[in-house]
Amino acid sequence: MKICKLCEEQSEKARNGKPHESLTKVDGARIFKGHNKRGFEEQDYQCLSCKAKFTHSTNKNDLAWTLWQG
Ligand SMILES: [Zn+2]
Repeated sequence: MKICKLCEEQSEKARNGKPHESLTKVDGARIFKGHNKRGFEEQDYQCLSCKAKFTHSTNKNDLAWTLWQG
């Protein structure tokens, strides 16, 4: 399935990039507590128009926006 233009752009966004208008949250945020308060969060999103799935992570070792190709 082909992803929509907004999702294509989303996958290029930086860490502080906001989810586009058709992305909705899937479940709650997953919170990981690291040492020295260096915790991070992951949040899953799904696009209402093309069904693409993303995970947004605040872990600086991960991509900010990971697109899961179905
Ligand atoms: Zn989409």
